Amino acid sequence: MTANTPSLKVRCFIGLGSNLEDPVSQVKQALQELAELPDSRFIKASSLYSSAPVGPQDQSDFVNAVAEMETTLEAHALLDQLQSLEQKHQRVRERHWGPRTLDLDLLLYGTEQINSERLTVPHAFMQERSFVLYPLAEIAADTEIPNIGSLSQLLVACPMGTLAKI
Ligand code: AMP
Repeated sequence: MTANTPSLKVRCFIGLGSNLEDPVSQVKQALQELAELPDSRFIKASSLYSSAPVGPQDQSDFVNAVAEMETTLEAHALLDQLQSLEQKHQRVRERHWGPRTLDLDLLLYGTEQINSERLTVPHAFMQERSFVLYPLAEIAADTEIPNIGSLSQLLVACPMGTLAKI
C-alpha cells in the first residue's frame, strides 16, 4: 500500500482454479502472484483441494483454493489485475466450463454487491459450489455472503461431493 493513500482497505476473497498444465503448480504460483498485487496485501490462503469438473466431464479434475486479501483497489481494477494474471498463465479456454490453466474469480469484495457488465459480486453460483464454500470456510468460517446468507448455513445445503483436500 502507498503510505499516504487515504483509500479504504477492503477485505476480499479470490477463488482459484486450474485443471491444465500441472494444476497444483499453477495454483501455488498464482497464490504467490496474488501476494505481489499492487495496493493489496495477501492475508491467507486455504489448503489446495481437488474436485471433479462442473459441466463437461471429459476433462481433468480441478485444483481449487481460496485466498483472502486486503486491497485499496476498486473492484474493477482488482478484476483487471486478476485477468492479467490469468493471461500470464497463458490461459487456454476453449469452451464454457471447459479446461483452463488458471481461473481467478473475485468471490467477495467487502460487503459490496456489484452488478456491472464485467463483474458480478458476490460471484454467481458461489453459494452452491463446494470448491468455493469449503475452502472459504477453512479460512473465514464466519463469512456472511451479502444478500445470500451465512456461510455456515450454505454449507449445510452443499455436500462436499467429490471435493477433497490435497
Ligand atoms: P470465467 O469463464 O468464469 O472465467 O468468466 C470470465 C468472465 O466473467 C469475465 O468476462 C469477467 O468479466 C466475468 N465476471 C463477472 N463477475 C466476475 C467475478 N466476480 N470474478 C471474475 N470474473 C467475473
